[in-house]
Amino acid sequence: MACYGRSLDSPCTLALLVGFQFAFVLYFSLGGFRGLVSVLVHTTGPEFDYSRPHDVYTNLSHLGVPPPPPRNSVGPVSVHLSSPLSLEEIRQRNPLVLPGGHYRPPDCEPRHHTAIVVPYRNRQIHLRALLYHLHPFLQRQQIHYSIYIVQQWGNSTFNRAKLLNVGVREALRDEDWSCIFLHDVDLLPENDHNTYTCHKQFPTHLSVAMDKFRYRLPYPQYFGGVSAVTPDQYMKMNGFPNQYWGWGGEDDDIAARFDLLKRTRLNWRSDGLNSLTYELLSRELEPLYTNLTVDIGEDPRVPQGKAPNPVKTATPVHQRSTSKLGGATKQEKRQESKGANMTVAKPAAEKTEPAQLKAANQTTHRKTGVVK
Ligand code: BGC
Repeated sequence: MACYGRSLDSPCTLALLVGFQFAFVLYFSLGGFRGLVSVLVHTTGPEFDYSRPHDVYTNLSHLGVPPPPPRNSVGPVSVHLSSPLSLEEIRQRNPLVLPGGHYRPPDCEPRHHTAIVVPYRNRQIHLRALLYHLHPFLQRQQIHYSIYIVQQWGNSTFNRAKLLNVGVREALRDEDWSCIFLHDVDLLPENDHNTYTCHKQFPTHLSVAMDKFRYRLPYPQYFGGVSAVTPDQYMKMNGFPNQYWGWGGEDDDIAARFDLLKRTRLNWRSDGLNSLTYELLSRELEPLYTNLTVDIGEDPRVPQGKAPNPVKTATPVHQRSTSKLGGATKQEKRQESKGANMTVAKPAAEKTEPAQLKAANQTTHRKTGVVK
């Protein structure tokens, strides 16, 4: 049958319309242009299935069994928010993790050495969710890592920034880490592309897409949640300020430390790692993490004896073997001997503009509860 009739209701026109509709539906059911391309063109690169999230323990059993799998990452991973396993159950699911929450790939020389530093007080459920999720996630990335939980002792106002300073300094006493992750306890990465490594030149903000903020940045300078810095970068910016007691602001402050030409910051050189004082009450190698219990002092704004945020005990309770604060870490000494000392080499800090803070794409995080 030849199709040259003009009328709309001719069988040919109808057949053409139905044909177009069919092609249209087929096009979108194959995932639009990208889907069509992937059907027609065979690519050799890794293909990730984004149609569903994957279990965070996927491929974990392959690790340590030679030859290593070609790739362990799976793209999006599912996040279990309710009733995380007990610490013992998590330990059993991560047999290659050593005391202190330490892991080194058994069958390759890792290129990345990352310390995860988590400020903490009284958040057992969040802690278990984090450990359950982060350990397999990091092992599949085949990096050498340790998880440090820095627990604020006592009743005074929580000070996230100061705990991070303590954690970084203590972590650097253990190893020459090439990368430090500053990590909230209640944030879980949702995608394998979210690699826990550092950029040599720029501090990196990882939690650029969080469910809490509908997977958008709440404001352009936002640097909270999860961020990554090399020890060198941390020294140059003089760490975090120590004076942010209570919720908020400290992350905005360090974002501004890279923006010295545009903002007038008066105290970043004197308030930070170089003015940090604390007493390390204990350091324990727990099966899944290194526990640092630390007395960071009192919030000066609160009259002595009046606890603003009563906490019965620090969790978990540990024996308090007091060890006094030691000297500078190897990195700090190196920094000093370079002439850059703890009060930041100005030219280096000026070079690092906020626009250069690398925002990693596809690095989504899920919040497991309210912070602090
Ligand atoms: C606070 C930050 C916080 C951000 C997102 C800001 O107002 O200063 O500390 O991370 O809000 O909640």
